[in-house]
Amino acid sequence: MSQPTFSPAQVLADTIVRTVELGVTITDAAIDAETTVVWCDLTARDPARCPGCGTVGIYRDSVERRLTDLPVAGHPLVLLVRVPRYRCPASPCERVIFNHDTSGLARSGTSTTRRCARYVLRRLIGDRVTVAAVARELGRSWDTINTIAVEATTELLAAAGPARLDGVRVIGVDEHRWAHTRHADGDGYVTVIVDLTPVVEQTGRARLLDLVAGRSAAALTGWLAARTPEFRQQVQVVAMDGFGGYKNAATSAVPDAVTVMDPFHVVALAGTKLDLCRQRVQQTTLGHRGRTGDPLYRVRRVLRTRTELLTARQQARLDAVFATDDHVPVEVTYRVYQDIIAAYGHPDPRQGKTLLTRVIDSIRAGVPAGLEELATLGRTLHRRRDDVLAYFTNRASNGPTEAINGRLEALRRNALGFRNLINYRLRALLHCGHLAL
Ligand SMILES: [Zn+2]
Repeated sequence: MSQPTFSPAQVLADTIVRTVELGVTITDAAIDAETTVVWCDLTARDPARCPGCGTVGIYRDSVERRLTDLPVAGHPLVLLVRVPRYRCPASPCERVIFNHDTSGLARSGTSTTRRCARYVLRRLIGDRVTVAAVARELGRSWDTINTIAVEATTELLAAAGPARLDGVRVIGVDEHRWAHTRHADGDGYVTVIVDLTPVVEQTGRARLLDLVAGRSAAALTGWLAARTPEFRQQVQVVAMDGFGGYKNAATSAVPDAVTVMDPFHVVALAGTKLDLCRQRVQQTTLGHRGRTGDPLYRVRRVLRTRTELLTARQQARLDAVFATDDHVPVEVTYRVYQDIIAAYGHPDPRQGKTLLTRVIDSIRAGVPAGLEELATLGRTLHRRRDDVLAYFTNRASNGPTEAINGRLEALRRNALGFRNLINYRLRALLHCGHLAL
C-alpha cells in the first residue's frame, strides 16, 4: 500500500492535537456539546500480522475505537479511531479475525489514551487539583479518573520496586481513621509508615512509605516482616506516639532500632493532664464545670501557652490564679508542663536531655497526694523514659508524619470518603509517596 498523502488541514489538525505521538491522523472533526470529537485513522497502513500465527492478515472491515484523549482548548476530546480488522488466511490458525494492534495508543480494554493517564497523574500530583476537576476536564466520571490514578500508581510502585525503600534509616509511625463505617478494613483505622530520613538528614521532606489496615502492633509487625532483612537492618530509628503497640512491634521486628517517643505526643500528653487537673480543681473549688468568669476557666488557654510568649496582662492573670492556695495542684502541674516544653526547646540537645531527665525523675514516684494527673504522667514518662530521652540523641520527630496525616485528611475530604482501602492506600501513596512520574 502506498504512503498516505496528508492534506494541509490534516497536518494542521495533527500538529495541534499532537496525534503523531499517538500513531493516528485526524480525518474529520465535529463539536458535540462540550466535547470535541475527532475521527482518526491509524498512520500505519500495512496490514497487521496475525497474533496467533504471524501470517499477514487480509483486510476485512474496520471497527471504531472510542477513546478519551487530552482536552483541547479547554474542552474534553474524544477520538473515534478507525481500526482495521483482518482475516487470517492460514487455514489451520484458530484466529479467524483480528484487529490491528492499538495497544500503543491505549491499553486494551480501556477507553482513555495512554497519555491521558500521564496527564491525570500530572494534574493530581504536579498541579494538586482534585479528581473531580480532572474528571471535568476530560469529560469522564470521578470513578473513571480515580481508577486511572489508582492503576497508574500501581504501575509506578511496581516500576520503583524495592529500591524505593533503599536508604530508609528513620521511620515514623502513626495512625488515623480513614473510614467511618464499622465494616471498613482495620475497623476504619490505618497505620501510617513514613520515611523521616530526609528530614533528620536535612536533605528533603518526609515521604509516605505505606498505609496498612488497623492500628495495632500486628499492623506494624506485619508490614516490617514483609520487607527484606536488609531493610529491617538499615532501620535505625522508629519515631512514634505513646501507643504501646507500635513500641512492641518495633522491639520485636527491628530489635536493633532505637524507638523514639515523639516530643509532640509527650507535650500533648502533659497538656492533657494539665487540663484534667484544672477541671478537677475547678469542680472541687466551685462545684461546677468551668464557666465564663471562673478564674481557672479564664486562664485555660494561658496555661497551655509557653511562658515566654505570655503578655504582661496574661502573666498577671495567671499570678492572681496561682495566689489562691486551692489552685496549687494546677500550678504544680503547670510548672511541669512548662518545664517539659522548655527542655524540648533548649538549643543544646544535651542540656535539653538533662532538663527533661530531671523532670521525669521529679515526678517518677512520691508525687504528693492531690496531684493524681501528675502522678499518672510520671508513671507513663518513666515507663517510656528511654524512648522519650532518645529524641535528644536522634532528633527524630513525628511532626512530618503528622503533616502527612493532615494532607491525607484533605485527600479524604476531596474524595468524599474512600470506600475501599486499596484505593485509599494508592491515592495516598500518589499524593505523599514522592513517586517518580
Ligand atoms: Zn493466524
